[in-house]
Amino acid sequence: MPSAQEVIGVYKIVDDNSDFRIRIDEHNYKKRVVITGTPPWCSDTTRNTFQGEWMLVKQGTLKGWLKAGIMEKGKLFPSRQGTPQGGCVSPLLANISLHGMEHTLQAALPPYRQKQDGKWVYYRLNLIRYADDLVVLHADLGQLLKAKAVLEAWLQPMNLELKAGKTRIVHTLKAYKGAAGFDFLGCTIRQFPAGKTHSRAYRDGTSFGFCTRIYPSKQSLKTHQQALKGVIEQHQAAPQQALIDKLNPIIQGWANYFAGNHSSAAFVKMNHLTFLKLWSWAKRRHVNKSRRWIAHKYWKVDWGKWDFSASKDTRLSLHSGVKIKPYIKVKGRKSPYDGDWVYWATHMARHPEVGTRTAILLKKQQGKCNWCSLHFNREDQLETDHILPLSKGGKDRVDNLQLLHRHCHHQKTASDLYEVKENKERYS
Ligand SMILES: [Zn+2]
Repeated sequence: MPSAQEVIGVYKIVDDNSDFRIRIDEHNYKKRVVITGTPPWCSDTTRNTFQGEWMLVKQGTLKGWLKAGIMEKGKLFPSRQGTPQGGCVSPLLANISLHGMEHTLQAALPPYRQKQDGKWVYYRLNLIRYADDLVVLHADLGQLLKAKAVLEAWLQPMNLELKAGKTRIVHTLKAYKGAAGFDFLGCTIRQFPAGKTHSRAYRDGTSFGFCTRIYPSKQSLKTHQQALKGVIEQHQAAPQQALIDKLNPIIQGWANYFAGNHSSAAFVKMNHLTFLKLWSWAKRRHVNKSRRWIAHKYWKVDWGKWDFSASKDTRLSLHSGVKIKPYIKVKGRKSPYDGDWVYWATHMARHPEVGTRTAILLKKQQGKCNWCSLHFNREDQLETDHILPLSKGGKDRVDNLQLLHRHCHHQKTASDLYEVKENKERYS
């Protein structure tokens, strides 16, 4: 019997029947875009499902997008077959077509509980979908297989199906059919056996016995290194500054994407591999020079750090220079337009209805009042208070400010005043 949170299924939806792809023929330096087959998101049946009440985009807009052709060197190629996969409209169409999937699955496989060793164990299905990539999680293999059948039945009227080659059922901890863990959105998600200090615990104190690790997948590392390699090769004869300017956004963008996961080991590895590439780039430019000369020309080695730098102001960004910060999930039914400014300012440290200072304080205090430790509500009256009152020499700066409920602020001011009165000599 698998324990909670262990069995995981991964599905990749690809319309198998359609032979939909873009072919680029590079004859005579002229690019020709050929679209063949029925694209997954625009068959007539799919179009009919757009008319549901959950329609996000006006029908006309969507149809316009689908019918807009491709402009190539001033010539318009009308598209009869719809939007290309990987184009910017494609994820939106995927979201529109696949809306309601979670509801269907939850309705078909509701949560339940079972008694195990005298304890109630709760089982619940989870679905994570990003455009057409999705993961279904369930602690019970039987339920997972049922979920697969439900999904297939749900997709069928839209001419979609789970692609056999890309749909896998795996276990996150134990090897199931040869592999443990899975890749999703460029990350590998896996669990490892762990002692009680590295593992979370059940309510009664017994340890899970494993920890969950999310880190950049092997494929992501490879693709990223290939991107860096391509840029470095293109700049074999270019000035060092031009190379740095090209590499920095790639490195920062990649590292920021993975900064919410357990990526430090991957970042260190990427630093090292990037260094090796740059070292051979530098060596090829100066075949007759010594290694010491090359190092001093392209790296600022004097300060003990090897900074790949052409001038004092700029240097190559390091992957490990990006701080790893835990990702905080947005609550399920929250929307930025729901008017809950307390939640959003706490989450993002900014909100159009809230002043910058208040938003920063809300995030700092994690949405709680410093006086009564209760969460703020959107109906509450918030006031900014000087932790050390101005009358006692406190400064009007963010580090001396806190947000309080209005009534809590009254109490705090009263106690401040009392203190000032008691120690009149000290403050006068
Ligand atoms: Zn309060």
